[in-house]
Amino acid sequence: AAKAAGRNQFRYFDTAMNQKVLERIQLEQDLRQALQRSEFEVYYQPKLCASTNDFCGAEALIRWNHPVHGLVSPAKFIPLAEENGIIIPLGEWIIRSVCEQIGRWRRGLVPTRKIAINLSALQLESDTFVASVDAILKETGTPTSLIEFELTESMVLRSPDRSVNTLTQFQAMGITLALDDFGTGYSSLSYLKRLPVNTLKIDRSFVEGLPHAKDDAQIVQMIIALAKSIRLEVVAEGIETEEQMAFLKRLGCDLLQGYLIAKPMPAAAYESLLQARTAGGCDCAVKCSLYP
Ligand code: C2E
Ligand code: MG
Ligand code: MG
Ligand code: MG
Repeated sequence: AAKAAGRNQFRYFDTAMNQKVLERIQLEQDLRQALQRSEFEVYYQPKLCASTNDFCGAEALIRWNHPVHGLVSPAKFIPLAEENGIIIPLGEWIIRSVCEQIGRWRRGLVPTRKIAINLSALQLESDTFVASVDAILKETGTPTSLIEFELTESMVLRSPDRSVNTLTQFQAMGITLALDDFGTGYSSLSYLKRLPVNTLKIDRSFVEGLPHAKDDAQIVQMIIALAKSIRLEVVAEGIETEEQMAFLKRLGCDLLQGYLIAKPMPAAAYESLLQARTAGGCDCAVKCSLYP
């Protein structure tokens, strides 16, 4: 009887596993068609300049509106898109969409400011990536000063020399670079010194425990001090409480981002937010240009 039960259990597990595999395959198939079916949308999450209390840009975050499952989290489909290579055309689509949006905002005299785009390791490793970014920016007439790329230490460490070379080219073009999820990677400080980046983005996991968790508070304090000492701009992500915000401001964190300030939102909502806060310019370290 025990044996039979065991076998049943195995069979049950087997079907459950098959179910998961099937779901994954289905999701992957859907992902392949999602671009043509226009199921993706770029959301924008504002960044606040600590010194002026004004918005000084936003991060572009991709959303997939699945016809059956509704909104699918990028944490779920980006890894899938990386495995099957779809991230390359998808990544290009994201950059183009952001640039086209910036163009519409500029023509409408909306002070959009800098938009940060998350990159994937595969893009960074592609031979044609720099040329493709350059082509998109030229075609859409996007000033390079309005684009920032966010990348992680682990992405860079996959092929360090190559990445440094690519990043140097972007900086030479006038695109700024931010190290995302900073503090969760493995880079040594000597490595950081060699890396062409403009900004450190403190990972949400360290912000979460502020100001009470002693370790988090000390790590955050250290990252901000480090950034200042090597003249990098520093951003905190994932701010959810007034206490966290006050703590980060007191330590001199340059830019602030999180649900407390604003959640990621569709382009139209971001535009309304900017329109509503037309007041004084922003002179934070990003040099986020108001225009025309
Ligand atoms: P990330 O780049 O570190 O983005 C921050 C994530 O934290 C976003 O999740 C954002 O919505 C969320 N977040 C922001 N503020 C708060 C907060 O106060 N509390 C909490 N709990 N969460 C907050 P999202 O949009 O689900 O994206 C997850 C990750 O997926 C991103 O992490 C990024 O690694 C990746 N991703 C998103 N969009 C893109 C994209 O266009 N391209 C690529 N390659 N990756 C993307
Ligand atoms: Mg990011
Ligand atoms: Mg991040
Ligand atoms: Mg993160």
